[in-house]
Amino acid sequence: MGVAIAAEAARRGAEVTLVVGPTAIPLPAVAGVVRVRGAREMHRAVMAQASAMDVVIMAAAVADYAPAERQPHKVTKDAETLTLVLARTPDILKELGAARQKSGAGPVLVGFAAETEDVIARAKAKRQRKHVDLMIANDVSRSDAGFDVETNQVTLVDEDGADTLPLQTKTQAAGAILDRVEALLQRSTAKAPVS
Ligand code: C5P
Repeated sequence: MGVAIAAEAARRGAEVTLVVGPTAIPLPAVAGVVRVRGAREMHRAVMAQASAMDVVIMAAAVADYAPAERQPHKVTKDAETLTLVLARTPDILKELGAARQKSGAGPVLVGFAAETEDVIARAKAKRQRKHVDLMIANDVSRSDAGFDVETNQVTLVDEDGADTLPLQTKTQAAGAILDRVEALLQRSTAKAPVS
């Protein structure tokens, strides 16, 4: 979904930087591509770029936990059981939302809420908790929406309410999401103080 959004934004004339984890999907021709492995690298890459952006769209399903330690060598299989200690990863979107909340300025923020139940209610709560402008709710329990399929069925959740769109291709969904983002951008520019 992130790749479809990046491609559609570039097609509309945006200068896009795509921060992307390991994927076999062919990437579109955009202004910049930053390849990352893991949540901590993604955090570093997004934080380094975000303040220069008008919009940050976080479509990645970032892992919530990662191994606390990296072993320098292959782990031998002497023991019958193996316990891995996982540590919380930084919540990139939440950090961007909190920073904007504190400073009163920053990019338009868009997040995704991949859920399997109470999809819209959870997306609304998540939008408020992470202080983002637009949350894209995704019912990932459906086989024709969410991960690893060409189609998606999304609900756009913003301060005005929830707008459920029909099942469509990811490119079409990207277009609908970017139409809403463009409206939000116009609103945020209109709100910005004249310097
Ligand atoms: O809380 P949850 O993981 O469901 O929130 C999903 C949204 O938050 C997505 O937009 C995802 O890209 C973002 N996220 C993040 N950093 C994390 C976990 C999720 O930016 N560590």
